[in-house]
Amino acid sequence: MDTMDDTLEFDLLTVPILDERPWAVFAACKEEMSLTFFPQNRQEERTALTICSTCPVVDECLDHAIETNERFGVWGGTTERERRKLARRI
Ligand code: SF4
Repeated sequence: MDTMDDTLEFDLLTVPILDERPWAVFAACKEEMSLTFFPQNRQEERTALTICSTCPVVDECLDHAIETNERFGVWGGTTERERRKLARRI
């Protein structure tokens, strides 16, 4: 019974995300705790950036973050500060 509940919860959480970001199925971070990508210090930030450096969909992720003005967290191999700098150049 627990397995069915787990499956239902997984589907409810992932289907809307995959509709919006189909490339996320290839994300290097899909098995990571999402908190890793909302770092509280430089060490956590480096951990997230290291995972991004191996990600096959880093460009799609960065495009999404810029298009949707993601203000918080590490997206597409960039920190919040780096994305603010990029946004000023656009
Ligand atoms: S670039 Fe980083 S945050 Fe984006 S999907 Fe890949 S691992 Fe996750």
